[in-house]
Amino acid sequence: MGRPHVLAMPYPAQGHVIPLMELAQWLAHSGIRVTFVNTDFNHTRVTSSLSGISELISLASVPDGLEPWEDRNDLAKLEASLPEAVPPALEALIEKINMTESDRVTCLITDYGLIWALALADKLGIKKSAFLPAPVALLALARHSKSLLDEGIVDGDGTPLKEEHVIRLSPEMPAIKIQESVWLQIGDYASQQRMFQSMVRNIKAETLPDWMVCNSSHELEAGALKLLPDLIALGPLLPSTRQGRSAGLFWTEDSACLSWLEQQPPNSTVYVAFGSFTLFDESQFQELALGLERSGRPFLWVVRPDMTQDAEKCYPEGFKDRVRSRGKIVGWAPQQRVLSHPSVACFVSHCGWNSTMEGVCGGVPFLCWPYFADQFLNQSYIVEVWRVGLRLDKGRSGVVAAGEIVEKVEILLGDGGYKDRVKSLGSKTVESVREGGSSCKNLTSFVEWIKEN
Ligand code: UDP
Repeated sequence: MGRPHVLAMPYPAQGHVIPLMELAQWLAHSGIRVTFVNTDFNHTRVTSSLSGISELISLASVPDGLEPWEDRNDLAKLEASLPEAVPPALEALIEKINMTESDRVTCLITDYGLIWALALADKLGIKKSAFLPAPVALLALARHSKSLLDEGIVDGDGTPLKEEHVIRLSPEMPAIKIQESVWLQIGDYASQQRMFQSMVRNIKAETLPDWMVCNSSHELEAGALKLLPDLIALGPLLPSTRQGRSAGLFWTEDSACLSWLEQQPPNSTVYVAFGSFTLFDESQFQELALGLERSGRPFLWVVRPDMTQDAEKCYPEGFKDRVRSRGKIVGWAPQQRVLSHPSVACFVSHCGWNSTMEGVCGGVPFLCWPYFADQFLNQSYIVEVWRVGLRLDKGRSGVVAAGEIVEKVEILLGDGGYKDRVKSLGSKTVESVREGGSSCKNLTSFVEWIKEN
């Protein structure tokens, strides 16, 4: 009898790969073998950021069904190709592992977005689990989608029929304007329609995982977890809570910004980062640059190489020279370490779920600038439920103006309540993954279940 062996596959996006890789490290730490499966395209990107991962984790890859030159940010294309390409390739991979290794694959864990791949676990008679890297509230809303349809709040395509409708599923959960529902914040109309319809269908999903686990915690999402008792919270799955480093990054971290941060006064620096997807047009990029300049504060700004058409051309004239002494621009930051640095005063964020948890656990208040998908929901958690940040409002032109950035930075940093609340929430949240905490207990039970014969 070999060791228990998990095959884990994330959805092929940065914000999904990092937390599942973190879960893989926790499992390996408990003596479980893990084969971590990326798409071929992402496999080549992550290999540079794997130093220090457990020897019990090996990497493998499968095709995503797209041609090498096709755009992986085109989610509609990816959604169509993955269900065709992944299951047969995963099956062949498991067959190969079982023929060549003494540790046969005993459990399949996929991202919730690939839940259909769990049918393979049924076919092979192995354990199956789905991992939700997003807030539990998002799934609660997805499960509520059928009622929205039945109550005539949206039509069969998910288009709102009652524009002013606000969804509030529990007093401890954010109230969401129907217009900010996740399916309306994604892609073109056809993608929105497809997503809404699949959410309605998912209620009757035939392949139910044995364990549905998520990267959240009772401290953050008590209300949503109460609504969905089948979800088991294992989070926040952050390397900082086990003195480790993030792995599975698509871009190379610029660690020099940490020594730059060392030179900034405590609680002084505005950290600005928009995750892995967000794109900026030239005018919005310029307003942000001017806002940072006019704030007069030190800033650390992540400008991903693909964030604008041509960033070098987008900076306002003379900007880099003017801010040289107090501004640092990097292509990709070691974000979790940045957010735990005492020089960081606030986080201008797109409110991706990972960034949201990382900011909370770092005790850093937010200025929210959501862009798509669940980010509006996360903004509502930050602003209304936890009260640890402020919204950045777009003017009539649809652009967040430089003046709005300057003003909100001052309001946020001028009121110590935001910092106090985020520090208190952050330390409670981090405690949940420590010995005796609720997520730690769940992780232990999850590991036991994987190890059971
Ligand atoms: N991240 C990072 N360096 C950066 C920007 C982002 O390491 O410069 C990481 C961040 O710590 C988080 C992930 O990338 O773990 C982004 O995930 P999130 O859910 O916040 O946003 P998404 O990229 O999915 O929109």
